[in-house]
Order: sequence, then C-alpha cells, then structure tokens
Amino acid sequence: MIDTDRMHEWMQESRSCCGSGRTADYIPELAKVPPDLLGICIHPIGSRPAGFGDCGIPFTLQSISKVFTLILALMDRGEEEVFRKVGMEPTGDNFNSMVKLELVEPGKPFNPMINAGAITITSLIAGGTANERFERVLRLIRTLAGDDSIGCNEAVYRSEAATADRNRSLAYFLKHNKVLEGDVESHLDVYFKHCSIEVNCGHVARMAMILANQGRDPESGGQLIPARYVQIAKVFMTTCGMYNASGEFAIKVGIPAKSGVSGGILGVVPGRMGIGVFGPALDEKGNSVAGVHLLEKLSQAWELSIF
Ligand code: GLU
Repeated sequence: MIDTDRMHEWMQESRSCCGSGRTADYIPELAKVPPDLLGICIHPIGSRPAGFGDCGIPFTLQSISKVFTLILALMDRGEEEVFRKVGMEPTGDNFNSMVKLELVEPGKPFNPMINAGAITITSLIAGGTANERFERVLRLIRTLAGDDSIGCNEAVYRSEAATADRNRSLAYFLKHNKVLEGDVESHLDVYFKHCSIEVNCGHVARMAMILANQGRDPESGGQLIPARYVQIAKVFMTTCGMYNASGEFAIKVGIPAKSGVSGGILGVVPGRMGIGVFGPALDEKGNSVAGVHLLEKLSQAWELSIF
C-alpha cells in the first residue's frame, strides 16, 4: 500500500526543484510546456496503478520510444543483425553527439539509446512503407500501454521535423558510412513520429510494468515481448538510459530507466512495478529535475535499487 500523505509530501518537495531546470527548447513545441508540472504513476505487477500530481497530462515519449524501437527491431531482425549495425557500449557524450561516430569505429553508433543508434534501429523495423513501420511502433506502444487511442502529437512532430538539422546530419553521415540504408528522409520521418507519440504517466507506468514482468502482461497472461529482449533493453536502460547521468542515477536510484527530453521517465523495478514520471524542467544532462529527485526519494523509502 502506498502511503498517500508521504507521497504528497515528496511530490511537493520534488516540485520545488523545478526552478533549477528548464524545458527543452531545441524542439520549439516542447519549450511551451509549463515547467513546474510533476506527475507520477506507480503500476505494481498484478495490482491497480496509483497516480499522483499531474499524472494525466499528456507528453511525448521522445527518447523513451528508443527502448521500444530497439525491442521491435530485435523482434523483427534478431540480435545478430541488430548488433551488427549498432554497438553495446555507453558513450559518455551527449545524446545527439557526432564525436565518436567518426573517431572510433567509423560509422557504427555506440548504442541504441543515442540518436545515431536509435535512427539506425528505426531503419531496421520491418514494414513496406514509412507509415507501416511507424504504425507497427504505435501498435506496440498501444498494446503495452493498454490504450488503443494513443496517437502522435502532430504539432510536436512537425516542430521537430522542421528543426532537426542535427539529427538530419547524423542520419546522412550514417548513410554515407552505409550503416543506414535506403531513404534517409523516410527513416527520419518514422523516428520523429515515434518520438512524438503522446502518452501520460499511467501509460508509461503500464509499459514499464510489463518490462518489470519480463515482457508478460499479467492481465492477459500473454508474452508480449520475449524475455531475452526485455533483458537487453534493461541493460541499455541501466548503462545509458539516463544520458550522461546514467552512472549517477544507478548509484542514487538504482533501477533500469529511460528518460526523454519532454521530461518523461520510464522506470522498471524488476519483479515489482513499473513507474511513469513526468516533469518537463530538465537538468543540464537532459533529465527531469523533479522526476529524478522524486525517484530518489521512492528508491530510498521502498528499497528499489537492484544493486
Ligand atoms: N526527438 C528527440 C531528438 O531526437 C529525442 C531526444 C531525447 O528525448 O533524448 O532530439
């Protein structure tokens, strides 16, 4: 049972950190979101979810979608083909950095959680057209979140597509190095769209709960994702899910998690629960200031760390 009074206390304390962060502004539409929102939903395996604060406010998945495109690419192509194109190591660089692409193993992105890796992963998703590939990502998200009405936020999608010079240059560099094959613009289009899928904390908590349950939906009993691919996703979430603060997050919170520049965080507590957090004010590494603060509180109080 969640102690509601304590939860409200932690929420208030965490919300007071929002002032030290800023909403992402390189995607103009994200800069318009009020920075002091904070919501969380906890979804224990086998029981009802509990939401607090602004947990019903919609936000876009942004990089949280990278966990699910990785899973889908693994389901479509298998481990060998995926890891021929993308590496398994953290970079220590920003999520949209180009530095290592040229310096180390020319052209091969370090991992599927950085943009270069995620764009490559997106290109591996099966489907005859860009729209079909996006629809398959959307279908997976809808199934895991348990809501068929989930869609793409058109304004955020257009805002990113119109300003994505950096992602475009990464993608064309990947094409030059023959990592990315086919039509670059259509791969980018699928990528921008899956980053713009709109959810709330409840959706993210349910998606995380299924990962916490090794890919099995406890309601239907269906194995939605093979357990091996959930294991791979949790490894990347732990080593590089929280950008360049993944080590610090592992020490302070200690759960596999993935954040996005919209201020969302998906947290997986294996065998116990899924957590969805939303707090759009970001720290300098790109993680939700209030969200990380709140997860620290929960981790200490409920002994969530897997380490
Ligand atoms: N759509 C964003 C981008 O590619 C996602 C970044 C993120 O959430 O880390 O820049």
